Amino acid sequence: MTLEDIRALIRTVPDFPKTGIQFRDISTLLAHGPGLAATIDHLCERAEALGPSAIAGIEARGFLFGAAMAARLGLGFILLRKPGKLPVPTIGHDYALEYGTARLELDPTLVDDGRDVLIVDDLLATGGTALAGAHLLRQAGARVDHAMFVVDLPDLGGARALEGADIRPQSLVAFD
Ligand code: IMP
Repeated sequence: MTLEDIRALIRTVPDFPKTGIQFRDISTLLAHGPGLAATIDHLCERAEALGPSAIAGIEARGFLFGAAMAARLGLGFILLRKPGKLPVPTIGHDYALEYGTARLELDPTLVDDGRDVLIVDDLLATGGTALAGAHLLRQAGARVDHAMFVVDLPDLGGARALEGADIRPQSLVAFD
């Protein structure tokens, strides 16, 4: 299955979560067996070329792709969670989101010093979410040089924002 086939499986929902926003919905891709398998294949092929020592996924949709990749590649998987979910002391970072503000939290004891961590999420928009994840991982002692997404919305400038923080982003498909 080609990247164009994968792109065609992503549904666009107009005016969600507010008027004028075109929400790119991966539910339809997840529900399609060959599409989901091909998405994980493409992500893993790229991740293997980078050779990370762990994968960090961003709650919630980053968990789906990131955990599948980690299991396939035999790597550990680190949770970047929404606030108040972890039962242990955390470090947290507040950030601006396309549709408001948000916060991510991390158990820093899961990150070994110098561990080379690949960030995975479903979609790159402004880059604020992935940057918050990178900030936490770096604070905990990890190296973060790469981030991987299924979808990029290039008009929102996320790739530039990540590159400005020395993180090279890759995405399988883009929507203008
Ligand atoms: P960013 O922080 O602006 O890059 O936004 C990316 C985050 O918001 C990701 O965790 C996405 O899951 C979510 N997001 C933003 N826009 C969309 C969309 O159109 N479809 C699905 N998720 C989105």
